[in-house]
Amino acid sequence: MNAEQAGYQAIDRICDYHVTLRDRPVLSQVEPGYLRKALPSSAPTEGEDFQLIADDYQKYIIPGLTHWQHPSFFAYFPTSSTFEGILAELYASSTSNPGFNWSVSPACTELEAVVMDWIAQLLGLDESFYNISEVGGGIIQTSASESVLVATVAARSRYIREHPQVAMEKLVLYTTTQTHSLGKKAGLVLGLKVRALGVTAQDDFALRGDTLKVALEEDMNAGFHPFILIGTVGTTSSGAVDRLDEIADVAKHYPFLWLHVDAAWAGVAFVCPEYREAYQLPAINSYVDSFCTSFYKWGLIQFDGSCLWVRHRKHLTDALDVTPEFLRSKHGNAGTAIDYRNWQLGLGKRFRSLKFWFVLRARGVKGLQKYISDCIKLNTKFAQSIYESELFSVVTKPSLAMTVFRLAPKSLPQLRTSELNTLNRAFYARLAARNDIAITQTDLNGVFCIRMVIGAEQTLESDVERVLALTKYEAMILLKNQWEGIGGRRGRKTDVVPFHSH
Ligand SMILES: *Cc1c(COP(=O)(O)O)cnc(C)c1O
Repeated sequence: MNAEQAGYQAIDRICDYHVTLRDRPVLSQVEPGYLRKALPSSAPTEGEDFQLIADDYQKYIIPGLTHWQHPSFFAYFPTSSTFEGILAELYASSTSNPGFNWSVSPACTELEAVVMDWIAQLLGLDESFYNISEVGGGIIQTSASESVLVATVAARSRYIREHPQVAMEKLVLYTTTQTHSLGKKAGLVLGLKVRALGVTAQDDFALRGDTLKVALEEDMNAGFHPFILIGTVGTTSSGAVDRLDEIADVAKHYPFLWLHVDAAWAGVAFVCPEYREAYQLPAINSYVDSFCTSFYKWGLIQFDGSCLWVRHRKHLTDALDVTPEFLRSKHGNAGTAIDYRNWQLGLGKRFRSLKFWFVLRARGVKGLQKYISDCIKLNTKFAQSIYESELFSVVTKPSLAMTVFRLAPKSLPQLRTSELNTLNRAFYARLAARNDIAITQTDLNGVFCIRMVIGAEQTLESDVERVLALTKYEAMILLKNQWEGIGGRRGRKTDVVPFHSH
């Protein structure tokens, strides 16, 4: 098979894969170690025909995939894969571009600077974040974790420059108990003390200004130096939104505190202006130092690609510019071109801006808005059914395209939290054992819950209705088989109606 034939075949097979997704199990059925058993223990001595390689991809790799683009994938977070993005990745890999400074690949640097400004506009970010401002700016990082790491390094460097007498071990990084583990990880990597501020169910798991103020005073009185807060718009567990308006009011009195906002999943929803106010864009625009949202999650761009904007690019370059002589260039020295290597951890970077450019042009602002609002509409319907259900209840306010709920039958009102947790673990085990839907669990301040997120482009209303039917069915079976005991033990009879699925 020659290269051209192999190329056409690959495109055909990729198309077939996407068209037949719906007929596949969402979750892979393989056992750990399946691939080592199937493959030879060393690389072939002689090169092999590509047909053999292409067929082995179908035979060994496809069965080991969890299909994140499947219409019944409601787990973790959505990851997009659009054909425009696939083609962009193909073009990007067709010219190997480490892109570490302007002159080694001008297009790679310049397109990134342009699309980051497009996206900043699309989201309604303040102009001080635009690359064209030449003060702030945006860069595509690999992941939200890397974005936080970069922001923390910049914040620490700024703090130490302004407070040269402070010992590193006195620095504190603030998160909340609902911040993604990227906060802890940044602390671990940078050797920083991390303090997770408390949030409550009554506040829908959002950080309040007063909590921050009390912590700051406490730590400063004890001789510590809090220097960064990682706030979240759309927490991983429940889509909670920290009260950035209140936080900004407090932080104004502590101007040395860097505010980074992690909106990895939810931030993309700012493309729809109607969500900007409720999801704290005004506070982001007027106050925060850095903001991150990952288009690889909910923005129709395939993994990877996390957008990070900073108000002052100088804080990144002050912290990260270690340019040795052999990397110096005329344009970099003159400051006429961005050298993204000084805005990130690695030296080189992939040509990721190409997929942003292709997708934004092919879909347009309207296409992206429609995709986001369709996901949210589907979730609103799902949440409505949960609210109306006799079996389930919503654990915290639904957020955009996410609903966190649990089995809490109205016929068993006497169950305590620990009993409901046991019931829900058993319920989740039944859902997780199915291979025709993917849905995940979470824990919110001691309450075990089920977490449903809508985001696959192929998901239809009928898929969401099917999930509802399946969850009801699994709940009924569970209650009938195993949990009649609860009511019985307490001298109450549970009246469970057998469920007829169609
Ligand atoms: C998914 C998610 C992350 C993790 O993102 P990575 O890109 O995998 O580092 C961080 N924070 C939030 C709020 C998320 O939803």
